[in-house]
Amino acid sequence: MIERLAVIGVGLIGGSVALALRETGSVKTVVGCGRSKENLVQAKRLGIVDHYTHDVAEAVDGADMVLLAVPLGAMRETLSGMRDHLQSNAVVTDAGSVKGSVIEDLREVFGEVPGWFVPGHPIAGTERSGADAAFASLYQNRRVILTPTSETDPKAISRVELMWRQCGADITRMPVAHHDEILAATSHLPHMLAFSLVDSLARLKENDEIFRYAAGGFRDFTRIASSNPVMWRDICLANQDHLSAMLTRFADELHELAAILEQGDSEGLLEIFERAKRARDRYIDGVE
Ligand code: NAD
Repeated sequence: MIERLAVIGVGLIGGSVALALRETGSVKTVVGCGRSKENLVQAKRLGIVDHYTHDVAEAVDGADMVLLAVPLGAMRETLSGMRDHLQSNAVVTDAGSVKGSVIEDLREVFGEVPGWFVPGHPIAGTERSGADAAFASLYQNRRVILTPTSETDPKAISRVELMWRQCGADITRMPVAHHDEILAATSHLPHMLAFSLVDSLARLKENDEIFRYAAGGFRDFTRIASSNPVMWRDICLANQDHLSAMLTRFADELHELAAILEQGDSEGLLEIFERAKRARDRYIDGVE
């Protein structure tokens, strides 16, 4: 049982953790912290938090578990704000989509990666944001990746694992760099492509007509372009090296695809589409 959970950033991710823990009776008190008063008032109204404050130091005071669920660009200032205010048995974890940048922020603020900090990333989400978007079943049967370092206290890892299991999630552990490389390919690149496709079409002169006749395929492919732009800017910059490498590789493949099309190479197109269909069908079979 968590006595007092401090959720810094009460949006989709942080709010859903609070709701899931409440539903399973795994937390006594939840304190929310954020910048927007309107969002915090809504979080209280929805029963996500018991109390709220704008002050990180006040939020973590007396908390035995702290979850950082702010955009990656706000991590460093948040860590600085809680410095010297944590109680001695507190465990801190985060939900940031890139792990290398969080480790850098920790080293910058604390001069080391403290043993009580367990870096984490839930592989769950939607394109919606804010307290309104939070729901208790978000993590049910979803994966959470923890990327502890050699400095991380095993007892802190166990407490964070328990918290995520109480939310219904399965836990995987992974080295920090491996996490960032994999996620660049499976999450960050697709978001970049969706944002860039919609932006490119929206800038065409006849865009009204294009969007009017867009059907299910367009909707499916571009759903994630409705995600929070600030959050995604921060994620892309935080994973700049891995993502740039992925993007360059993909741009080369797009050029090759354009050449195959220009040559009217029917065999070439079919080979790519069949290979992709097989891979996607295998993936869907695996997750359903
Ligand atoms: P969100 O926009 O729904 O919530 C973020 C909250 O943080 C907002 O309520 C905002 O007001 C608050 N906030 C912003 N700056 C702040 C600051 N300086 N101090 C305090 N509060 C601040 O976003 P989210 O989807 O819940 O994402 C939160 C974190 O989780 C991000 O780091 C993101 O990378 C990660 N994440 C997101 C998803 C997803 O699909 N949305 C999935 C996994 C991980």
